[in-house]
This record gives sequence, structure tokens and C-alpha cells, in this order.
Amino acid sequence: MQADAQGSTKKKQAVVVIASALLALLLALLYIFPRPTGSWPAIFSALGLWPREAPACPTVTFVDVGQGDCTLLRNGEHTVLIDTGTDGYSLLRTLRREGVGQIDALIATHPHADHIGGMDLIMEAFAVGRLYVSDMPPADETDAQCYGRMLEAAAAQKVEISHPKDGGILDIGGIHLEFFAPLPAAPDENERSLFVRAQLGGASVLVTGDAGVDAETALLSRQENMEAAILKVGHHGSSNSSSPAFLRAVAPDYAVISVGVDNAYGHPDAGTLTRLQNAGAAVLRTDVLGTIRFSVLEDGSVQRTVRE
Ligand SMILES: [Zn+2]
Ligand SMILES: [Zn+2]
Repeated sequence: MQADAQGSTKKKQAVVVIASALLALLLALLYIFPRPTGSWPAIFSALGLWPREAPACPTVTFVDVGQGDCTLLRNGEHTVLIDTGTDGYSLLRTLRREGVGQIDALIATHPHADHIGGMDLIMEAFAVGRLYVSDMPPADETDAQCYGRMLEAAAAQKVEISHPKDGGILDIGGIHLEFFAPLPAAPDENERSLFVRAQLGGASVLVTGDAGVDAETALLSRQENMEAAILKVGHHGSSNSSSPAFLRAVAPDYAVISVGVDNAYGHPDAGTLTRLQNAGAAVLRTDVLGTIRFSVLEDGSVQRTVRE
């Protein structure tokens, strides 16, 4: 009888071990393959598998998305995401680790794959308040496919779309956004990029998509206030962006270059790096540092925050 009892206990233990392993496998699969539904974040949150605490102070995060752009602005519960890189999956994991719950405004600077490739997945996985994007489909086939998937996802998830106007403003829970489109009909799609100047907690951040010197010059001629403590450097630090005059107007403390390791474009350009340094900016690169984070302190200054 005792031997039977021991055997029964061992069987129970084996069942528990197998059930635990299956549950762990299921959770891992759910984490890796989030595409089938938009409800995974809610499931994970309910299970307490990742934090949902809003940051204590406003934050600015340049998510490492390889060769592409992605800027995350947060103030309390409110979130603005500008561009999503090419790979929405790695971005999704990062947003979960950051504890992002919903995205109030999802903004595309311009419809190139390295900026909008992850838009569809983000709209499927998160509650998105509104999508802000130009209404000009790109010419390139790959970019056009990304653009189409983005619009399909917006329709499927019932995310309303706005086309930001040059000079438009938007307030999202203490995050003040100004939109500039100095060359909306330029033949080069990069030059049509939307400039987004964000102010949060007394600090300014300027994101210029892949705009080049022509768009920078057109904007400068309008005498707009372009000052920003943090500049997301235009077009991944290419030679045709970040003119000395533009950098003088922005006067950034930090210049962030979002760029892939050993990318095929030779970004960032050595001359651009020199111009940024001559402008007095501390240059930070995602290919060297990974995701780059800043906190906005009470006095409105920005401080880079480093996580282990
Ligand atoms: Zn780009
Ligand atoms: Zn581009």
C-alpha cells in the first residue's frame, strides 16, 4: 500500500511539473506571437507579468529599432509614439517592458518602411487613440505595402486617422505637440517629413523624420522657434541633414541618432557627426547604446537615465 501511495505522489508531482511546463510554454508563445488579437497586453497585465506603473516624471525614450526611428514620449498615463521602426515585434516587447498601457497619439513622420513598418502591429496590440499620418502613399512598393497594412490595421481596430496640417498643434495630457510640414509636396519623400516639436515638463524635443537640408532651410526661413534640448537627428545622421544653420536654431544639448549597426547606408555620416559636435551637442547613437532614455526633471532640464 505504501508503495502505491508513493507512486501516486510521484504521479501527482509529474502532472504538476508537466502542467507547469505547458503553462510556461503557452505564456512564452503568447509573448512571442502577439499578432492574432489586440487583447494580449490586457491578459498579461491581468496576470501581473509586466509592470503598468506610469513614470514618476515625463520621459523621452528613443527605442532601439535597428535602422529606423522610434520616439516614445510619456507624461503620467499619457503616451505619444512617433514612428515605429521596421520591426514591430521588438518594439512591442520594449513597450511592454516599459509598462506602456495605451498610446494616445501614434504619429508617422513619413511613410517609409523604417518609420511605419511596425504601425499595424502596434495598433493590433495596443489601444491607440488616433493615428496621425500624411495622406500621400509612398512610391516604393515595399513602403506602399507598409502604408497599406497601416491603413488596414487602423480600419480593423477602428483607429481614427488625422492628417496633421503644417502649423497644427495638439495637446495630449500635458504633452504639447507642434507639427511642421515645410515641404509637403517635395519630390523626395524624405523632404516631406513631418517635423514634430514636443514640449513636456518644460523640456522640448524635436523629431524631424528623414527631413534633409531643403526642408530644414524652408522651415528656418519662417523664423519658427525650433529650440530643443533633445534633437532626434534627421535621416539617421545622413550627410544631407543637420545643416549648421539648422543646428544653430535648434541648439540641442543632446543629439540622438537612431541607426542600425553596420547599416548599408553608411549612416551616420562623419561630417554630420562633426557638425553636431561643433554645435555643442552630446551625440548619442542607438547602434552603440541601444535604447536611449531621458527624464525631464522638475526644473525642466533633461537628464539621461541608464538602466542596467
Ligand atoms: Zn528613415
Ligand atoms: Zn525616409
